[in-house]
Amino acid sequence: MGDDLCVGGVVPLTTIDYPGCLSAVVFLQGCSWRCRYCHNPHLQCMAASEVFAWEDVLSLLRLRRGFVEAVVFSGGEPLLQTGLPEAVADVAALGFRLGLHTAGAFPDRLEAIVSLLHWVGFDLKYAFDNYQFITGVEDSGEMARASLKVLLKSNTDFEVRMTLHESMEAAVIIEALEEAAALGVKNVALQKCRDKDENIVEHPIFSDKLMLGRMSRCFDSFQVRG
Ligand code: SF4
Repeated sequence: MGDDLCVGGVVPLTTIDYPGCLSAVVFLQGCSWRCRYCHNPHLQCMAASEVFAWEDVLSLLRLRRGFVEAVVFSGGEPLLQTGLPEAVADVAALGFRLGLHTAGAFPDRLEAIVSLLHWVGFDLKYAFDNYQFITGVEDSGEMARASLKVLLKSNTDFEVRMTLHESMEAAVIIEALEEAAALGVKNVALQKCRDKDENIVEHPIFSDKLMLGRMSRCFDSFQVRG
C-alpha cells in the first residue's frame, strides 16, 4: 500500500465507534467537504503532519486480536482514499468485524465495498437540497442521497447520525429527517454539536419535546446523544 492510503491516526481501543463492540479506529486523512462544524478539521487536508505506514497499522491490529472485535475506518472521509478497498480486505483477513464512518461523498466507492462491511455510521448533514450550507460543496446533497440509497439497498447494518449545529434551521432539520424516513431509514441518532473547547452548543430543537416526539415516531430507533 503506498500513496493511495494515508493513515492520519489510530485509536487502538474505543467503546463508542461501533455499536455493541470494542473497536479500534483507523483515521484516514483527507476530506473533500468543509463542514462548518467539522469534528476532525486536522484530518480535512490530504497532507498529514504524521503518517502511519499501513504495514505498521496492520501489525498493531494483529496485536489487538482478542481485545477488540471490530475495526472502524473513519476520517476525514475514508472513501476519498483509493486504497480503502485493499485496506478493508487486509483487515477482514485478520478476522475483525468491519465498520465505516462516512458522510457519503463517494456513492460508487461505497457501493464497491458495502458488502464487505458489517456496519456503517452515515452522517446525514441536512435536507439534501440544503447540503451546501453545511458542507460548502455544491453537489454534496446529491452524493449523500445516492450513498444513502446504496446503504438502503445493501444488507449491511447502518445508522444515520445527524449533528445539529446552532446555525441549522429547525424546519430544514425536520425536512432532512422526513426525507430519510421516506427513503426507508429506520435507525437515527441526533448528536449535539461541540465547540472547539469541547463544550456542547445545544440546538433549540433538543428542548422541544413535542418535536422530538414527532420525529421519533418516524423511525424504529431514535436516539439523542450528547
Ligand atoms: S464530512 Fe466529516 S470530515 Fe469532512 S468536513 Fe464534514 S465533518 Fe469534517
